[in-house]
Amino acid sequence: MALYKEQSLKLYNSISREKEIFKPINEGHIGMYVCGPTVYSNVHLGNCRTFISFDLIFRYFKHLGYKIRYVRNITDAGHLENDADSGEDRIAKKARLEQIEPMEVVQRYTVDFHNTLQKFNNLPPSIEPTATGHIVEQIETIKTIIDKGFAYEVNGSVYFDVLKFNKDHDYGKLSGRSIEDMIANTRELAAQSDKKNPQDFALWKKAEPQHIMRWPSPWSDGFPGWHLECTVMSTKYLGEQFDIHGGGMDLKFPHHECEIAQGEASTGKNPVNYWMHANMLTLNGQKMAKSTGNNILPNEIFSGENDNLSKGFSPSVARFFMLQANYRSILDFSNTALLASEKGFNRLMDAYRNSSLLPVSESSTFSVKEWKQRCYDAMNDDFNSPILIATLFEAVKFIVGVKEGNEKITAEDKELLHTTMHDFIFDVLGLLDTTVANQDNSEKLSGTVELLIKLRAEARNNKDFATSDQIRDQLLALGIQLKDGKEGTVFTLED
Ligand SMILES: [Zn+2]
Repeated sequence: MALYKEQSLKLYNSISREKEIFKPINEGHIGMYVCGPTVYSNVHLGNCRTFISFDLIFRYFKHLGYKIRYVRNITDAGHLENDADSGEDRIAKKARLEQIEPMEVVQRYTVDFHNTLQKFNNLPPSIEPTATGHIVEQIETIKTIIDKGFAYEVNGSVYFDVLKFNKDHDYGKLSGRSIEDMIANTRELAAQSDKKNPQDFALWKKAEPQHIMRWPSPWSDGFPGWHLECTVMSTKYLGEQFDIHGGGMDLKFPHHECEIAQGEASTGKNPVNYWMHANMLTLNGQKMAKSTGNNILPNEIFSGENDNLSKGFSPSVARFFMLQANYRSILDFSNTALLASEKGFNRLMDAYRNSSLLPVSESSTFSVKEWKQRCYDAMNDDFNSPILIATLFEAVKFIVGVKEGNEKITAEDKELLHTTMHDFIFDVLGLLDTTVANQDNSEKLSGTVELLIKLRAEARNNKDFATSDQIRDQLLALGIQLKDGKEGTVFTLED
């Protein structure tokens, strides 16, 4: 039986502002869309936190036995500088400054994004579609929205008519804003725009003559508005209505609000059942900003080459640090906090390794079964990773107790403890054992195998082939393969 049938999961739905019991549209299947990066610069640490949060969510659903399709887009066109409907395309601007093709910008920073997330041990999404790969679908959706009466064309650009939509829909329901407040707070002058109202947003923008990234459309040679791609690609790969839509907290308004409006306007249906938003990362108590120097890049954490750090930290320690906070809380990054996380991470990994080596007794002094359910309870409560980690540390304490002879464990409980720790540490939290002890072990292993290779060479020199074959075959049985070549013998480890 799939695990999800035994566990009742609640998640915080941003639109109802409550924790709700999660029930997917199709039993056993989940469709999840998360807004991906705009690839015009190296990925920020704050963005990494968002994607690590959704990786945790993705991993837990997979662990529970759901079939989940996780779609995360790459914005490679149409994201204008000021997040509104004017200004330059972020990617085109970077291309112009560096005098390269926009697609070179896209390629460079997409590769950086993938490499960085891989270091953090994030799983790749199931589908990673690009905005430029879905221009045809975006034009079709604009036509539909115009046909339904919720968009209008002016001078080759197409805008979504927010006030008209709001007459029988609720624009602002996700972010909790009222249209009256939006109107009262707007400072945009009507004369500066083709829009009927300042709240309207672009579905299609006519390209200025110097604009390189452009596509033909019924309205003009131009490019799609940024909010549109997510509506189009989520609909294409997950359907008109799907389970979960996620992203960073800063995308709630206007981006996600616009997505709801586009979806409801084009299909007449509410596109998303559960909205999830990951909170931001600060550095030394302040917002990260390149301009003030209060900033840190992922690679600088690994190398330690940043004035805010005393040393480098492994990606798994940085990931562990991030998972020690709930994804909905603001998390403050600091050298002190990372040093503390590293200590905790090493203790956890030590305890995990020791959990398979414990002496067993006739009875246990700790209910492993109840503890295991508490691990699930933590994750079932809106993916509460800090509570999960605290629960794992109950086991750490117990393991130390058994080692020191103060606690007892049965053989059966030992097995359950070890496998449960493995499941939660590696599969759910997505950590890798990069501790010094593990590196020491790999050094010890290679030293030992080198010694055996030497003894085998001596045996062969002495024509003692029985011994040399025995060394080779027994190593192979352990998953260590020897290969003889001109440069001598090398070995490889099978997984
Ligand atoms: Zn999006």
